[in-house]
Amino acid sequence: MRDMPIYLDNNATTPLRNAALTKMLNVMGAPANPSSVHSFGRSARLVVETARESVAMLAGCHPENVVFTSGGTESNNLVLMQYDQVITSSIEHDSVRHVHDRCKMIAVDENGIIDLDQLAATLCKIDEAAKPNTIISIMAANNETGVIQPVDQISEMARSSNLAFHSDMVQIFGKRHLDFNSSEISYASFSAHKIGGPAGVGALLVRPGCKLASLLRGGGQEKGRRSGTENLIGIAGFGAAAADALGDINHYKKMAAWRNDFEDRMLNERDGITVFGKSAPRLGNTSCIAAAGKAAETLVIAFDLAGVAISAGAACSSGKVTSSHVLRAMGAGGRAGEAIRISGGWATVKSDFETLADVFLQLYKQPA
Ligand code: PLP
Repeated sequence: MRDMPIYLDNNATTPLRNAALTKMLNVMGAPANPSSVHSFGRSARLVVETARESVAMLAGCHPENVVFTSGGTESNNLVLMQYDQVITSSIEHDSVRHVHDRCKMIAVDENGIIDLDQLAATLCKIDEAAKPNTIISIMAANNETGVIQPVDQISEMARSSNLAFHSDMVQIFGKRHLDFNSSEISYASFSAHKIGGPAGVGALLVRPGCKLASLLRGGGQEKGRRSGTENLIGIAGFGAAAADALGDINHYKKMAAWRNDFEDRMLNERDGITVFGKSAPRLGNTSCIAAAGKAAETLVIAFDLAGVAISAGAACSSGKVTSSHVLRAMGAGGRAGEAIRISGGWATVKSDFETLADVFLQLYKQPA
């Protein structure tokens, strides 16, 4: 076993970037309420607004579109609770799926891509009177498979139906160029701990003219859109991570080749391997892969003992043994219980994927 385990579970959370750690240590300790008028408050305000600019830069939007929240879960809840009816997909994160009791769920195909015909048919049936209180919410990239949705097409469909469109962009943020300004998306959710920032802080992007009332009654921070004294330390770390992540797009392009080499090696050297979403556009960092006859939970433990940290099923349900709703929606059936998820991040290097392949080949000598 190696001294330091290899970490390939970055869709669950990422290691903190040095820039984020340094920035957080710098702001820690001083009294720092950004609403205070004295010099301490003004310094804190400057930290928040500088972080807002960095997040906006990575998202391709204006800083005033950025509302800081406690993370992706809150951002998703905050936007969807502004509406009575949600049209969403069967592969969304639980923080989208479970906000409303009755969502209209759009199916995905075996590659995990949303059925645009079903979406179009559903949009046709929406009553004109219900439209101001109806929103479409489709994630940009899935946390389990990395499969990327045709967000531009969906936003065009939303625009021509006069409906608001929200996209959970937690996983795509920092891995692909985003241009919120020139898109038709009404709202987007982000989370700091997926890009090398701290957990417990995130953002919701809001296009001007789209409704957003604070769910929490209080001091009216974030221009009345999210009450509560700002999490200054977290926001500072988020901003520093976002500034650092600006240079990462190329890293993820390279990682796609490392990921593909790993998958090709498994497919060429072993029978019984399935890669979920392989023929769909995917994030370069993610591989959702199953080995016939090997239960995912057993594999995760075996990888851990061999010094490689990966996960089974959904990121946020790591530790819970539940079968993945995403893979079931893709028609994986019993194979869902064999699927493991490998996800690289900003600190991942090529040899991590090479070691992963070596370990996998040792653990899976032949199909059962
Ligand atoms: N949306 C997606 C796609 C995610 O992967 C996650 C976390 O795994 C979230 C939302 C929730 O984000 P947070 O952990 O910041 O609440």
